[in-house]
Amino acid sequence: MARYARVHAGWVARWTHALLDLLLPVECAGCGAPGAPWCPDCAVLLGPPVQVHPPRFSAGPGVSAPPVYALGAYRGQLRTALLAYKEHGRRDLGRPLGSALAAGLVQLAPVTGTGAGPESGGVCLVPVPSRRSAAARRGGQHVTLLAQHAAAALANAGMEAAVAPALRMAAGVRDSVGLPAAARQANLAGRVLLRRTGMPPTGTPVVLVDDVVTTGATVAACVAALLRAGIDTPAIVVLAAAGCHPPSYLEALNATHSVEDPERHVRPWRRHLRRTTVPASALTLLIRKEARPP
Ligand SMILES: [Zn+2]
Repeated sequence: MARYARVHAGWVARWTHALLDLLLPVECAGCGAPGAPWCPDCAVLLGPPVQVHPPRFSAGPGVSAPPVYALGAYRGQLRTALLAYKEHGRRDLGRPLGSALAAGLVQLAPVTGTGAGPESGGVCLVPVPSRRSAAARRGGQHVTLLAQHAAAALANAGMEAAVAPALRMAAGVRDSVGLPAAARQANLAGRVLLRRTGMPPTGTPVVLVDDVVTTGATVAACVAALLRAGIDTPAIVVLAAAGCHPPSYLEALNATHSVEDPERHVRPWRRHLRRTTVPASALTLLIRKEARPP
């Protein structure tokens, strides 16, 4: 009965948001500017991938943690927008956020072992799962939707990509917001499980993707679960890093983004965003294809 209530609440929330989207003018989820769900001024908050130093987690005894790359800092308009996407039904952000994630993945191809064009061996994006109750309340797995948009944008850029929803959270996982790192680890211990129907094809490079990394406990549990199935994760890519990694993500970001010429990264970035944007029809086809793994 409780499950029915959760599913029903998610359904109502989804349709309410869809109806509001039709009735209300679109505004940027970051700054509120009218005209687009994610305006150009806010779009530059997601830039080139920066490695979060150092990974503050272990994927298990004797296992070196894969590098975590973030495209932005979890603060200001980016934080506002990601919360709107995740918690307040702004699923219209899935496409621009997915395009930004795809652009970061293209730049990380040498790290992830993938490539673009005819030589591409393809990449499988494994989304970090949400708790089932949270996903039902929000109207679905928001990171899976993000990964689907990213895979569509990658395909449009010439890189074979698919989404492998290989992980799920077991019952009993609590909301980790506000928990310190050790408590997060204890909360997740043994509770990230494999979904046999969503496993990536053998040998395909895998990248774990998420919206936000905080302590790294969740991604560590995911990497460990994949490893138990013999799947190596060469990299983790997230949209935003909460500023808790010493030396902080912001220092690394400032080193990457020249303050003398902030447009230096913005110009190619905007071009890339335009290139990787795909029509909704193509996305629908791709998602349908992904629903039938080879
Ligand atoms: Zn904006």
